[in-house]
Amino acid sequence: MKDDNLPAGDKEPPSGHRLQLLKEFHSAGRGFWRDVSDADWNDWRWQLKNRITTPEQLRRLMPTLTPEEFAGAKLANTKLALAITPYFFNLIDPADENCPIRRQVIPRIEETRAAPWQMSDPCGEDSHSPVPGLVHRYPDRVLFLVTDRCAAYCRYCTRSRLVSNASGYDFHPEFDRQIDYIAQHPEIRDVLLSGGDPLLLSDDRLENLLGRLRAIPHVEFLRIGSRIPTFLPQRITPELCAMLKQFHPLFMSIHSNHPRELTTEVRDAVGRLADAGIPLGNQSVLLRHVNDDVTVMRALVQKLLMCRVKPYYLYQCDLISGSAHLRASVSKGLEIMEQLRGHTTGYAVPQYVIDAPGGGGKVPINPEYVLCRNAGRVLIRNYEGKIFEYPEAPDGTPTGTPPKEIVEPQLV
Ligand code: SF4
Repeated sequence: MKDDNLPAGDKEPPSGHRLQLLKEFHSAGRGFWRDVSDADWNDWRWQLKNRITTPEQLRRLMPTLTPEEFAGAKLANTKLALAITPYFFNLIDPADENCPIRRQVIPRIEETRAAPWQMSDPCGEDSHSPVPGLVHRYPDRVLFLVTDRCAAYCRYCTRSRLVSNASGYDFHPEFDRQIDYIAQHPEIRDVLLSGGDPLLLSDDRLENLLGRLRAIPHVEFLRIGSRIPTFLPQRITPELCAMLKQFHPLFMSIHSNHPRELTTEVRDAVGRLADAGIPLGNQSVLLRHVNDDVTVMRALVQKLLMCRVKPYYLYQCDLISGSAHLRASVSKGLEIMEQLRGHTTGYAVPQYVIDAPGGGGKVPINPEYVLCRNAGRVLIRNYEGKIFEYPEAPDGTPTGTPPKEIVEPQLV
């Protein structure tokens, strides 16, 4: 993959150098909006009002738009709307057709091609929805969909059937019914607000919703899933953080896929959330020509830690309709995980998961470290490929044999 921070035409640097370049923090800058006042640029409502939403706007701002992208943008409003905040648009490299930021938010005509194995609801959420806007798939927790709108739209979105309402899903969450359902189910101890993006709600509406959920005695834990810290860091105002900190324990999962998304603006925004005592995790989706590269992924996870965010999940891309061009293979995901575990800080290593198609939930996918397990021992492999024996009796107590490293010929 081309280096992502080098000027076009520069030679690929050695991987250590490339890693360092990817880990540098830069501002997104002002780009085409250099004449806009600071007050407007830093106002999240101005950013939303001035999003790029039409193919014509996109082509005017980016004359290098390819025919595939222009055709994709023209059809986007029949599937998943086109919207990009000016802030995030500035991260796109217009000279690079395979720019990892561009691939995430600019539609392509390939999105209209659906393979037979692709689905509109790959995680089976609709079939686990007892009331509109609530998904109760796991025993002790629920997904509470707050809105169908986002600050910008990810072209691989698992919920593209409903977000942006481009395909006529007609999503209508009913907060009263959602909250009543939770109140009537004492087994629900964890509520995840998602959507669409919950941080698009005004502070007052969000405060009201969080307050009603917090008032339910058996709800121990609240979570917010949001892409806004990376699409629209201006939204993370001191007022928002002061409001959120009333509802602890409150965690937040942010969403970033490439180290270039972690700008100085994002670092400051998530720093404000961390200062408000909100534990932060990051969810990434493994995407072809975006982050299916060990150096890119290593830079992303290390940079996240520098932002005080724990890499939480790396998702295998769901089998969403029209996403084949963005899908990387499971073997590529395993190869990347193999190069993270042991090779970098344990806190930096996310859990790679496949959301089992059809509603089976998240299944952890790991490289094989347990080579064999029998009545007397467990054979394990470390990150360097060295093999060790952990002696263990059938009842789980260690045997008298001292643990040892095994050289490969003995295994034959
Ligand atoms: S922000 Fe989340 S919900 Fe919105 S389009 Fe992206 S992945 Fe989908």
